[in-house]
Amino acid sequence: MDKGVGTSAVSRPRAKRTSGDRVKRLQVYRSWCKRCGICVAFCPKGALEKDPEGFPRWRDPKACVACRMCELRCPDFAIEVQEEGSTDEQAK
Ligand code: SF4
Ligand code: SF4
Repeated sequence: MDKGVGTSAVSRPRAKRTSGDRVKRLQVYRSWCKRCGICVAFCPKGALEKDPEGFPRWRDPKACVACRMCELRCPDFAIEVQEEGSTDEQAK
């Protein structure tokens, strides 16, 4: 099944990265999402909200700590949070 090419909800244009500020990308597969709002409700940081159609979108991407609770709670595997530019150097 096509996972909804071209239906991603991107938070913002690629921003200039600074140390400790990892850009996070929200991927919502709209063809799978049933707009139940579970991901929004379970985000511990309030980083998500529903858009006017009921699909999840960023409310505050900087608040996201990439815990993946939204992915784990989604019953339809319809949401992903990806960290761009994970820097191994920061872990050293
Ligand atoms: S990864 Fe965690 S903090 Fe980020 S949007 Fe999902 S539930 Fe919220
Ligand atoms: S939990 Fe999954 S199905 Fe429900 S609104 Fe979020 S992405 Fe859509």
